[in-house]
Amino acid sequence: MTEIESPLPPLLDRILLQALAHTVNGVVITDATQPGHPIVHVNEGFTRLTGYTAGEVVGRNCNFLQGAERGQPEVAQMRQAIAAGEPLTVVIRNFRKDGTPFWNQVELSPVREEGSGRITHFFALQTDVTLKRQAERTNVLRALELERIFRGGPVGMILLDEEGRATVATPALWRLMNIAPQAIEGLPAAQAAGVIARAFAQSQGMPEVPLPWPQGALSVRWEVPRKGSMRALDVSSFELGTLTRERVIVVRDVTQEEEGNAARSQFLATAAHELRTPMGSICGFTELLLMRNYSPDQARPLLETILRQSMRLSAMLNDLLDLSQMDVMGGHAFALAPVSLHEALNKALQVAVPPGSARTVALKLPDAPATVTAHPQKLEQVLINLLSNALKYSPQGGAVMMEATIDPALNRAHIAVSDQGVGLSPEHQARLFTRFFRADPSGPIPGTGLGLVIVKELVERMGGTIGVRSMLGQGSTFTVSLPLSSETPT
Ligand code: ADP
Repeated sequence: MTEIESPLPPLLDRILLQALAHTVNGVVITDATQPGHPIVHVNEGFTRLTGYTAGEVVGRNCNFLQGAERGQPEVAQMRQAIAAGEPLTVVIRNFRKDGTPFWNQVELSPVREEGSGRITHFFALQTDVTLKRQAERTNVLRALELERIFRGGPVGMILLDEEGRATVATPALWRLMNIAPQAIEGLPAAQAAGVIARAFAQSQGMPEVPLPWPQGALSVRWEVPRKGSMRALDVSSFELGTLTRERVIVVRDVTQEEEGNAARSQFLATAAHELRTPMGSICGFTELLLMRNYSPDQARPLLETILRQSMRLSAMLNDLLDLSQMDVMGGHAFALAPVSLHEALNKALQVAVPPGSARTVALKLPDAPATVTAHPQKLEQVLINLLSNALKYSPQGGAVMMEATIDPALNRAHIAVSDQGVGLSPEHQARLFTRFFRADPSGPIPGTGLGLVIVKELVERMGGTIGVRSMLGQGSTFTVSLPLSSETPT
């Protein structure tokens, strides 16, 4: 080991040298008086860190540790510090003897001769900070991700500090409440609520209504004007842990949720009502049959009614089941596939008009085979439904036709199902596709008023559209448009 002149008494000197020898850090001492500043000493920590033994490095300049990466800005920084005789700490990419890279935190300090102050050596303490750097990087990335969620999310958030002042507010507040986050930042909560209430009142030219903040873990509902309609906001408060009185106020737009709930309750009420009608006549007629001694001829029409109403009930339950399955699916589309247009139309026709039926349907197909993107069974269900409506609602007969055409410009196929039947008035056309709508609910044609609702849902979940043209007393045409596919049908 090359001795360095030390001002310390020999015992302490020895203890220090031993401590340096055994520390987990790498220690490197270079001779500043010789050209190229050769290494004069390295400890065991250096060998553990880099894989090089003292014998392999003493006499060499430290720069071999940088491998081919001599251009790192930290190298220039070190050169400058050495030239200026100043201490420096840098993190630099170094390479072990086996070629693996690691991040080396180098704490460089000059060693000066007592008296003259001349720099004789440089002392470098080296620490492997690779893992620390990785952890820091992960933390930074996480923080950036959280920041993005915080800034870009649909939920408005206001952070209240220990004194109840709004410290941070997210930009979503602008979208939800028309309030720039800066307008409330720094304000005590009550004052911030006042600013928000005033902004709403001003935007509508209405008197100001106080907006309460939620207390404890409860939430409150704010009804606020936004873009011409009233929006319902759910405002909840959460404590940020038990050791602090900081709270976060979360603001969510629940208008759609509330509208959805209201529509569901309304639907349930209507469904129950609609189910009660056939159920009532089944019960009533059965009771009648049980109470009186009807002859078979007298009983027959009653039994026919019971059968008809039972079939209606069962059709309605099937339709309700279809609708509830789609509700469970949420807004998701079906798994779609390339479907042969010719095959789908032919199959639907066979089911809607089985061989031997009294009625016929004319089928017009494009000359060349065409493929649409659809769900094969659902497409069939749609077409069967439209065909059976066309036949049902043209009780006096008249031509029923199913025609498919290709629109290359729009890359779509149009399937039109037309009849010359009862047709629909403009008022009734406007109410088509709403649950339980029937133009003639007490008429002789059986139905549930749910078929077209299901058809529309199915078509839209296949990426298609449905439209209707109709004239009262003259007939109707329902047209389904679906995207064409360039793939081969499976
Ligand atoms: P349903 O036929 O079971 O009553 P739909 O949902 O299929 O239920 O149709 C709703 C209503 O729309 C029908 O009751 C009928 O009044 C009208 N409708 C449907 N298709 C036609 C059609 N092709 N011609 C005239 N009216 C129709």
